[in-house]
Amino acid sequence: MDAPTLADSIGVPVRANEPMARHNSWRVGGPADAFVVAKTLDVFRRAVLAARAQRTPYLILGRGTNMLVADAGVRGLVIAAECDEYMLREHGDTATLSAEAGSSLPLLANTLARRGWAGLEWAVGVPSAVGSAVVNNSGAHGSSMADVLRRATVLDEPGEERVVEVADMQYE
Ligand SMILES: Cc1cc2nc3c(=O)[nH]c(=O)nc-3n(C[C@H](O)[C@H](O)[C@H](O)COP(=O)(O)OP(=O)(O)OC[C@H]3O[C@@H](n4cnc5c(N)ncnc54)[C@H](O)[C@@H]3O)c2cc1C
Repeated sequence: MDAPTLADSIGVPVRANEPMARHNSWRVGGPADAFVVAKTLDVFRRAVLAARAQRTPYLILGRGTNMLVADAGVRGLVIAAECDEYMLREHGDTATLSAEAGSSLPLLANTLARRGWAGLEWAVGVPSAVGSAVVNNSGAHGSSMADVLRRATVLDEPGEERVVEVADMQYE
């Protein structure tokens, strides 16, 4: 695995030896062998699939607020999830929010509150990306993702998109 080969497969620049200290809230940690910023879902998907195809270990990075990176750095490819499109569907007295993995959870909580919707207000102070919040079941003030999430679209092992209902996520 090298950064130029990965860049060819993913179709966007891949940085070699990127200092991870730039990308986590502790501001510590050595370099990632390769680092790509996924601004769109398509790039995100291609990065994961390229790493798998080349048998390169990979790590998804949200906002880096729940991550302690060793001085030795990270082997393989770090994929920074910065895809942040979202869509709010309002229907009567309910609303459904669909958000990409790199969307800012506190920003979405604020956006919903400003439009008068309750449900995500507990998240205004949680410095998380949406994808990490789903993975970690982030929560605060007695509520958590498990209480508000309906379903998530994931990439399964063969690289197919699959919808997982919250009931099947084994949240505790
Ligand atoms: C000041 C501060 C306050 C905090 N307050 C709270 C709080 O109130 N409640 C709370 O629950 N947590 C809190 N946290 C912890 C942290 O914010 C949460 O765990 C948050 O969900 C981490 O999000 P992140 O985007 O920074 O994840 P990261 O640190 O970037 O990643 C965390 C883990 O999730 C994995 N991951 C990230 N995105 C994906 C993805 N799309 N697919 C698969 N794996 C993924 C990463 O590989 C990593 O293993 C706080 C942290 C700080 C620094």
